[in-house]
Amino acid sequence: MKYYSTNNQSPLATLHEAVVKGLAGDRGLYMPEQIKRLPEEFFDNIQNLSFQEISFEVAKAFFGEDVEEEALKQIVYDTLAFDCPVVKVNDSIYSLELFHGPTLAFKDVGARFMARLLGYFIRQEGKELVNVLVATSGDTGSAVANGFLGVEGIHVYVLYPKGKVSKIQESQFTTLGKNITAIEVDGVFDDCQALVKNAFMDEELNNKMKLTSANSINVARFLPQAFYYFNAYARMKEKGLADNMVICVPSGNFGNITAGLFGHRMGLPIKRFIAANNANDIFYNYLQTGKYEPKPSRQTIANAMDVGDPSNFARVYNLYGGSHEQITSLISGATYSDELIAATMEECYRDNGYILDPHGACGYRALKEGLKDGETGVFLETAHPAKFKDTVDGIIGCDIEIPAKLAEFMKGTKQSVPMTKNFEDFKKFLMNE
Ligand SMILES: *Cc1c(COP(=O)(O)O)cnc(C)c1O
Repeated sequence: MKYYSTNNQSPLATLHEAVVKGLAGDRGLYMPEQIKRLPEEFFDNIQNLSFQEISFEVAKAFFGEDVEEEALKQIVYDTLAFDCPVVKVNDSIYSLELFHGPTLAFKDVGARFMARLLGYFIRQEGKELVNVLVATSGDTGSAVANGFLGVEGIHVYVLYPKGKVSKIQESQFTTLGKNITAIEVDGVFDDCQALVKNAFMDEELNNKMKLTSANSINVARFLPQAFYYFNAYARMKEKGLADNMVICVPSGNFGNITAGLFGHRMGLPIKRFIAANNANDIFYNYLQTGKYEPKPSRQTIANAMDVGDPSNFARVYNLYGGSHEQITSLISGATYSDELIAATMEECYRDNGYILDPHGACGYRALKEGLKDGETGVFLETAHPAKFKDTVDGIIGCDIEIPAKLAEFMKGTKQSVPMTKNFEDFKKFLMNE
């Protein structure tokens, strides 16, 4: 399968090229040339298949031409070493819990898949070590570091701003050791990102070592997110509740919901989608006006969705040939202030005994307000509420238990390399590695 750029100015890329490059040369996002429809029999029988079996079928449609079948199966089964169950919240609303992976957030799925796919390409080529550089303000670093942990042929450098990342987040990428190096930069997130960008552009450094990124727009992180939409449908079908299913996705960069739209294009019978936003309402406004107008991001309590120029909008737009009519006929939007998010968390806990994290709360609320008669809603619970313990405890007045997995990280010993924000220092460090 070949991949084209949404800007149409770059040559077609192979899967391997698209994964290593991340972003196309013309700064567009890669799209697969074909999105294959899956056969009717697959959907007729889907409720009898496990999450891993379903995902393997979906993975074959995307990657089957480029990865040997047995190897692909191994990658899918290794990636999904944890479940993504559908849990009842009330009679018409269900939660697709995506927080049972190593770092308790949905980004684990894409990060783990990408690490294994890249590992496969490296083994095939028998090439030198590949170095992944990633700048993080918290969550991406932990998902990428844990996704790549122990994968042979790859070394990961996580750059993070000193003192600007919560203790829980920091422990998830500084205590791992092995092929993960945490670099604590004396600066802010933008400094970390600048160091990474400069490294990719430095000729001497690129001659010395093979560098790549693990950005969230990477097709190998993005496409596998389709897996759990198919599983949600299968598990709802098992319950006899899949006929008028509405999927609601708390969205920031819109990668997660776009993977669901790809599933829909492959024939997944979802009636419609809702994109739930916090106060960052760029997509919501696009739906109302047909105009896409990026803005500076606003800080909210659902901070993983604080995005003022969602990168995957380009993919949504491309998927529907730029038709506002097609987009609005399938997708609606919602936007919530911090006050409404907090009130929703309180209300859902009181009414259903279900603890939402601030991101999932946007999803739950949009269903609660937007479901029509006869529809059943599934929202994506994108992170475990304990990842936002201070916020959640403060709002619902509880002392939420920290899952063993998270507590384990906090017991580990922090190992990190102190670094200035000066590129020459960072370069010298990498050259001597
Ligand atoms: C990254 C993230 C989101 C936003 O996902 P997108 O794919 O960027 O739309 C939502 N919730 C949580 C907890 C996240 O970490």
